[in-house]
Amino acid sequence: MKDCLFCKIIAGEIPSTKVYEDDKVFAFRDINPQAPVHVLVVPKEHLDSANEISDENVDAVSACFKAIPKIAAAEGLKDGYRVINNCGAAAGQTVMHIHFHLIGGRELGEHII
Ligand code: AMP
Ligand code: ZN
Repeated sequence: MKDCLFCKIIAGEIPSTKVYEDDKVFAFRDINPQAPVHVLVVPKEHLDSANEISDENVDAVSACFKAIPKIAAAEGLKDGYRVINNCGAAAGQTVMHIHFHLIGGRELGEHII
């Protein structure tokens, strides 16, 4: 999608530190990490947010969740990790291309971030 930051990252038009890629998923390090491991797991298909998930595109989302354990293992997160999706402005979504924050590498405690 034109003018979408994450579509441009997926296309290689904007640099990123890629940690995983398959035919449906692209994952890269967050530019402002909240923990030693902070990876953004993104479907290659553009959906604005979780509000757009439907029967037609849910495969793109499930592919992210299939990739997450593989990425977590590759990042050494054997003791656990957290997956977060911010949906909409009130939740703090700043990039309108659905993405899942994979966070770990430190004791996360009871707070979300
Ligand atoms: P959210 O607030 O859930 O929409 O998350 C957007 C995330 O994208 C934030 O954690 C940002 O730090 C991250 N981010 C923004 N621009 C970039 C970029 N160019 N490369 C990597 N991560 C980015
Ligand atoms: Zn996009």
